[in-house]
Amino acid sequence: MGVVIRAFRFALDPTPVQAAELRSHCGAQRYAFNWGLALVTAVMNQRTAEASYGIPETELTPSVSWSAYGLRKLWNQAKNTIAPWWGENSKEAYASGVANLATALSNWNASRTGARRGPKVRFPRFKGKRQAISCRFTTGSFGLVDGDRRHVRLPRIGTVRTHESTRKLARHVERGTARIRSATVSYRGGRWFCSFSVEIDRTDPPPTRPASVVGVDLGVKSLAVLSTGEVIANPRHLEVALCELRRLQRQAARRTGPDRRTRQRPSRRWLRTQARITTLHTAVANARRDGLHKLSTRLVRTHGTVVVEDLNVAGMLRNRRLARHVAGLGMGEFRRQLEYKAGWADSRVHLADRWYPSSKTCSACGAVKTKLRLSERIYHCDQCGLALDRDLNAARNLARLVNEATGGMSSPSCGATRNEPDGNPRQTHTVWATGTATGRPDPPRSGQRRHRKVTTA
Ligand SMILES: [Zn+2]
Repeated sequence: MGVVIRAFRFALDPTPVQAAELRSHCGAQRYAFNWGLALVTAVMNQRTAEASYGIPETELTPSVSWSAYGLRKLWNQAKNTIAPWWGENSKEAYASGVANLATALSNWNASRTGARRGPKVRFPRFKGKRQAISCRFTTGSFGLVDGDRRHVRLPRIGTVRTHESTRKLARHVERGTARIRSATVSYRGGRWFCSFSVEIDRTDPPPTRPASVVGVDLGVKSLAVLSTGEVIANPRHLEVALCELRRLQRQAARRTGPDRRTRQRPSRRWLRTQARITTLHTAVANARRDGLHKLSTRLVRTHGTVVVEDLNVAGMLRNRRLARHVAGLGMGEFRRQLEYKAGWADSRVHLADRWYPSSKTCSACGAVKTKLRLSERIYHCDQCGLALDRDLNAARNLARLVNEATGGMSSPSCGATRNEPDGNPRQTHTVWATGTATGRPDPPRSGQRRHRKVTTA
């Protein structure tokens, strides 16, 4: 595969002194960002006002440079007067603040002029104290500590203990296959993290079945149905946690929270409950990410081609009834992971057209139904009499898309999949779709709540 850029993120266990220094550095980055933004906006407004008085272009207040280098130069000229305390933090903190501003400004400009695709980028806004904080180091002494897998080195702050082993990155560094480009510290979900951006030389094994094509039908009822007949259940992390979340939020409501108007400070008990709510949200996000990573890695390492629908996730999130369920799955994230991992493993991701009727087509004879209600869980074909699980039918159609295009052989055979009983509801496990020959009776489905299946077709 060659050289790719990857991030390695480690949770930190800083001492109280180090935590205060980390906070100070993040505050310094925010300060430099806000300072630069104020300057840029002031100059822009001044020039607009002057132009409205009819002052010629050449006599307007000179505009400031929007490049990271230019802004940094201006910061260095101004820092002694506006921030005489700047020496308390590494100069990298201020440099990364103005560099982030330069990126934000150029993104906005590119979006405005049409040079950048995707949703419109807004003009940068001031960073508040309650926003997620981070600070990036690009020069200076940072990295891992030689021969020790429990510490990271940061400029100015020094050696900080990690909460987990740095083995995964350390092995690359020792082998000489990694080059650390930058280190970013951030505070997320009640914990400090250090993320290294690393250039690594990857040599991944090719997929174990290079000729195999697998169709993946993403849904809400089950997270995914593969054309092999395997069903990846929806782990419903958020729904499981919602019950506990409700309890904690009731508890927080009984306690004294902050009030801006009366300047009421939050009580310690309120803060404690808030910390528990944060932990719960972090656990949900972690479990979701873990499941998606495991599934996407397995797919690209096993199959030569993975076919997924080009779902309009942003559009589905606008549907109020579906939003929470769709967001709880991370479909967009799943596709992103599939795409970059396919590049590493030398497999291929094929995106089916957004309007391809994968659910309405019969996977046996190719007849297309005009109407298929979301409540019809079993696909009944009027032409050939096929009766198959709706999602499995869609997954097989997706797999066939590529087989037809390349003339390859379809492989609806089932690989090494396990049949496990329902255990921990947070864990992804394997079951079989109805209509798959497993020699087992269909699981009882009556009395079960029906959840809406999301398909565009
Ligand atoms: Zn048919």
